[in-house]
Amino acid sequence: DSKVEEYDFPAILEQIHEEVQEHLDKGEVADYIPALAEVPKSKFGMALAMLDGDVYTVGDAEDYFSIQSISKVYSLTMALDCIGADLWKRCGREPSGNSFNSLVQLEHENGIPRNPFINAGALVVADVLAKHFDDPKQAMLDFVRARAGDDSIESDPEVKKSEAEHGHRNAALVHFMRSFDNIDSAVEDVLDVYYHHCSLRMHCADLARSFLYLANRGQCRHSDCQVINPERAKRINALMLTCGTYDAAGDFAFHVGLPAKSGVGGGIVGVIPHVAAISVWSPGLDSKGNSLAGGIALDRFTQLTGLSVF
Ligand code: GLU
Repeated sequence: DSKVEEYDFPAILEQIHEEVQEHLDKGEVADYIPALAEVPKSKFGMALAMLDGDVYTVGDAEDYFSIQSISKVYSLTMALDCIGADLWKRCGREPSGNSFNSLVQLEHENGIPRNPFINAGALVVADVLAKHFDDPKQAMLDFVRARAGDDSIESDPEVKKSEAEHGHRNAALVHFMRSFDNIDSAVEDVLDVYYHHCSLRMHCADLARSFLYLANRGQCRHSDCQVINPERAKRINALMLTCGTYDAAGDFAFHVGLPAKSGVGGGIVGVIPHVAAISVWSPGLDSKGNSLAGGIALDRFTQLTGLSVF
């Protein structure tokens, strides 16, 4: 077993970059949010942020892209800070076995979403933020900028507008949950908070750095801030492992073996506990909505290094 310091990470990332080229045009760019459909499929970036502060990158690792559902990890972290375990009265912790924007389960389960990473669960989380903060959108920006160490992070107004214009399903989810008294704020306020964080623009290096608190028992490395306690970090990682990659979390754990969260913008971020956080971006998606080349790249990374939780 080699020590982490002995790995040649630049060479490993370079090798993966070459290997994924043949897969880049196989996926489909998400087009249900029209603003996302404009991103070229040829893009690929990857970043590895080590707990000691080193960041290794390859390809388009500093191109900003729409982080979409990856933002649900930040919003969950913030909502748990606001109301703690009371959140679990309003949202479950089981994989859904259904697509991320499904309505059917809610009908049978009294408006309680299966987990905080499907849209329904993230909308309950957004409701908590809308209720708790005077300016929830600014609070979110402050949170992600501090975690990534990048003050230029913004929410993309074009993407946000595009999401809102085509967000009938999300609006339906909020109304439906409100009918079960599982939403407190005005429907439009919840959607506004939700679309704002889904439309955040970040790059791979930002994303990897920003997830280091989850690899480091809740402590952010560069800001030295104890963001959450170690127990909560453990729990968020467990939710990412079981629910973080849509209806493919089982397969993702099988191939990659890391807690991870993906988004339909083609980003995926993984946590290597006590070692690093790793992110990848390639906009072509597989049939479950995860970045196709991104999944292959993370699979190769954990194979080549043995750095997985299993
Ligand atoms: N904003 C997207 C939606 O609500 C998030 C999708 C995703 O990345 O899973 O549909």
